[in-house]
Amino acid sequence: MTTYTPMMQQYLMIKEEYKDAFLFFRLGDFYELFFEDAERASQLLEITLTSRDGGNKERIPMCGVPHHAAKNYIETLVSKGYKVAICEQTEDPKVAKGVVKREVVQLITPGTITEGKTIDGKTNHFIGAAEYVTEQQIAFATLDISTGEATATIIEGDIKTLFQHLQSYVIRELIVGEAFHLEAAEMAEALNIVLSVEFEEMQQTEQFTDSLPQNVKPIASKLLRYIERTQMRSLSHIQPFHFTEMNHYLSIDANSKRNLELMQSIRGGDQKGTLLWLLDETVTAMGGRKLKQWLHQPLVQRAKIEHRLTVVEHLLEDFFIREELRERLKQVYDLERLAGRVAFGNVGGRDLAQLRESLRQVPAIREQLLASKSESLRQLGEALDLCEEVEQLLAAAITDHPPIAIKEGDVIRDGYNTKLDELRYASRNGKDWIAQLEQKERELTGIKNLKIGYNRIFGYYIEITKSNLSNVNLARYERKQTLANAERYITQELKEKEALILNAEEQSLALEYDLFVALRDELKTYIPRVQALAAEISELDVFISFAFISEKYHFTRPTFHDGRALTIKEGRHPVVEKMLNKQLYVPNDCILPSERNMMLITGPNMSGKSTYMRQVAITVILAQMGCYVPAKEAILPITDQIFTRIGAADDLAAGQSTFMVEMLESQYAITHATKNSLLLFDEIGRGTSTYDGMSLAQAMMEYIHQEIGANTLFSTHYHELTELEHDLERLQNVHVSATERDGKVVFLHKVKEGAADKSYGVHVAELAEMPEPIIERARVLLTQFEAQEVKTVKEAPSSVAEQLSLFTEQSAVSKEEQEVLEALEKANIMGTTPLQAMTLLHELQQKL
Ligand code: ADP
Repeated sequence: MTTYTPMMQQYLMIKEEYKDAFLFFRLGDFYELFFEDAERASQLLEITLTSRDGGNKERIPMCGVPHHAAKNYIETLVSKGYKVAICEQTEDPKVAKGVVKREVVQLITPGTITEGKTIDGKTNHFIGAAEYVTEQQIAFATLDISTGEATATIIEGDIKTLFQHLQSYVIRELIVGEAFHLEAAEMAEALNIVLSVEFEEMQQTEQFTDSLPQNVKPIASKLLRYIERTQMRSLSHIQPFHFTEMNHYLSIDANSKRNLELMQSIRGGDQKGTLLWLLDETVTAMGGRKLKQWLHQPLVQRAKIEHRLTVVEHLLEDFFIREELRERLKQVYDLERLAGRVAFGNVGGRDLAQLRESLRQVPAIREQLLASKSESLRQLGEALDLCEEVEQLLAAAITDHPPIAIKEGDVIRDGYNTKLDELRYASRNGKDWIAQLEQKERELTGIKNLKIGYNRIFGYYIEITKSNLSNVNLARYERKQTLANAERYITQELKEKEALILNAEEQSLALEYDLFVALRDELKTYIPRVQALAAEISELDVFISFAFISEKYHFTRPTFHDGRALTIKEGRHPVVEKMLNKQLYVPNDCILPSERNMMLITGPNMSGKSTYMRQVAITVILAQMGCYVPAKEAILPITDQIFTRIGAADDLAAGQSTFMVEMLESQYAITHATKNSLLLFDEIGRGTSTYDGMSLAQAMMEYIHQEIGANTLFSTHYHELTELEHDLERLQNVHVSATERDGKVVFLHKVKEGAADKSYGVHVAELAEMPEPIIERARVLLTQFEAQEVKTVKEAPSSVAEQLSLFTEQSAVSKEEQEVLEALEKANIMGTTPLQAMTLLHELQQKL
C-alpha cells in the first residue's frame, strides 16, 4: 500500500469503510471511481473506463462523472439496488497542506434515497427493519425518510409471514442483524430487496421509540441508527414511531391483494384496472399516499369506520363545500416532503414559495369546514393548524417567484434585511448607471448598436461591431478582446464602476445565502406542526375523493352489525363495471345468513363466477376503509381477514407448479382464517385430475364448514359437489346462468338460487351445430353417467384410491363402457382443441 501515492492511500482507507458501496471520490470538478468500483460502474453507467497512475507500476482503473451531473448517475446505481458513498473534499484545496482532507458526507442507499426519478409522489418510499423477538414473533419497523413517518409492529409468525407482509409494501431495503441476514437472503432476492446489516448498539432514541412496547424498541433503534449513520445530516423531521396493532386492521394477505387487484393488476404493468385506479381521485400527493395506506389497511373498529363514513356522507350531501375544498386542495403542495427537505437542508427557494402557497390555502379550507352544518366536518376544521407563523415568516422573507437555486439571488424579498437592501441598492444603481453609460457612448460615437455587456472572465465591456470600428476613439477605448465580427473595449470610467457593482453584488449574494440558511434553521422548529397539518389535509383529501367517487359511481353507505350475516343487494364490481364498454353490468345479490354462510357457485366458464366473488370482497374492503360501496344496500359484519384463492386465466396452462401454488395459498388461508373471516375459493382442485381435485375440494369445504365457520364463497365446475348441500347444512347452491339467443350462448351474469344445469355442455355443442348423432349420444351418455354419478361421500374418503374403487364398485357398466369412461377420465379436456375433442368423441363412440 505504501507505494501508492498519498491520495490513493487516502482513497483506500476510506474505501475500506464502505466496501459494500460505490465510492464517489471528489477530485476537483469530478467524482472519480477507482479499481473494481470503476470497472463495474463503467458498465452499469455506460461511461468510459480509463486509468491513472497511482504510484505503483500498474495503472489503476478509473472512471468519473462531472459533479454537477452526478445526481443522475447516482440515481441510476441506487435504482439498480446499489449503494453510493459520497466523499467530498472537506477543506479548501488552496489552503490544504498535502493531500486535501476528504470525508464521506452521505451514504445513499435504495431505502434512503429521497429524490429523483424513482420517487413517485403518490407512493411512500419505506425502508424497513426486522428481527425475531421470539421464535414465532418478528418485530418489524418501517420509515419513510422523505416524509418522516415511522411505524413499528409485531408480526405473529416466522419469516414466511414476514415474506407475505413485505409484499404489500414498496420496500427497497431491509435492515437486519447478522443472524437474520442469512435466513432472509433468499426472501430478499425474491422480493428485490437490499439487505443491510446493522449491528446492535446502545443508543439514546427514547424520544422516538417512547410509545413502543419494550420488545419492539431495539428494532426501531436499529433502523434509526442506520439512518443516522448513512445520512449524516439533520433528521429533525423524523416522527416518533407509531405502534400498529396488527389486529386493528383488516388483514388481507399479499396473494389476495394481488388476486383482487387492489393496487396492482394481475397482468402487471400500470395501475389501470385496479381498485386504486378507480378510487384515486385525490388531488394532493399526500392524499394519494394516505389512500394507499387506507387501502392497504382497512379498519376493524366499528366506531372508527362509522366516523369515516359519516364524514363522507356529509361531504356528499354538500356538493358546494366539496368542490370548493377540492379546488383549494389542488393548490396544496406536498407538505410532508417539503418539511422533510427543510430538515435535510436541501430545501430551495421555490420549495419555500410552494410551502407558503400551500399554507395560504389553509385558512379558507378551515373556514369552509367550520361553516358546515356537520359536526364531524367542523371537527376536521378545528383540527387544522394554520401554522400562521410559518406563513408570515415566508411571506416576509421569500420573493414571489424565487428561482430553484439559492446562490443566484432573487430569493430574499426587499425590506427583509436592511443590510441586504443597501447592497442591492448599490448593485442595482450600478446597473442603471451602466444603462446610462451605454446611451451616452452611443451618442458620443454615433454607433447605434453599441452595447455594454458582461461576462465572468472579462467583466463589463463595450462591444463594437467591425463595421463601426472607424468611429472608435482609441484614446479613450482600451481593447480587451477580439471576436469574429466585433471588438470589445473598456474605458477608465467603466472599470471604476465595475469594481463597485461587482463587490456589492457579490456581497449581496453571500448575505442572501446566509439569510436563507438562517431562515431554514428557524423553520425547522415548526416541522412537527407542518407535519400534523399535512396529516389532516391528506385525510381530508381522501374523504373528498371517497365522496367524489361515491357520487360518480352511485355507491351507497354500508351498515354494520355485530352478527356474522352478510347481505349485499344489487352489488357490483366497480372496476369491471367501469371497464365494460357500453354493456351494462348485471348487479347481483349476495345473501349469507349466519345459518347458511357458505355458498357454492356453479356455472359455465366466463359466466361471471370469479367476478361475483371478487365483488363481495371488494365491497367488504371498501366498507371497512370507510368508503361507500357499489351496491343498492349492504349490511355487513366486521370482517377480520380476507383470503382468496383465485386463479388467473392461464393458470391451467402452467400446470403442476401452479397447482402447488394453489395448495399453498389454500393452506395459508385455512390455517389462518377465523369464523370472522371471508374466504373466496375459485375452482379449487382444477389443477389436478378430476377425482383428486374433487376430493380435495370437498374435503376443504367440509373442513371450513366444520372447523372454521367463516363466510365462504366457493366456485367449482365439479357439478358433483352441489350434492353437498344435503350434508352441510350451512351450504347453499347458487349458479350463474347463461342462455341462448339466435343460436348464440348469451351470458346473463345473473346469480340465481340452486345448482347449474348439468346438460349445459351438450347444449353448447348443439349450438355449435355438432352432428346430430353426437348430440343424441351425448344426451344418453349423460343420463347414464348421472345414474352412476359418484355420490359425494359423507365421511371424507381416506384416500383417493378408495374413492375411485367406490366408483367401480357402484357401477353396473359393461366392459366397453368402462373403457370409454376411463378414456374420458384420462382425457385432458382443457388441453384439447375442439377438433381433437371431436375426434376423441368419435373414437369413443366407435367403442360402444
Ligand atoms: P368465470 O369466473 O365464470 O369464468 P368471470 O368472472 O371471469 O367468469 O367473468 C367473465 C367476464 O364476464 C368478465 O370479464 C366480465 O367482462 C363479464 N362479467 C362478469 N360478471 C358480469 C356482470 N355481473 N355483468 C356484466 N358482465 C360481467
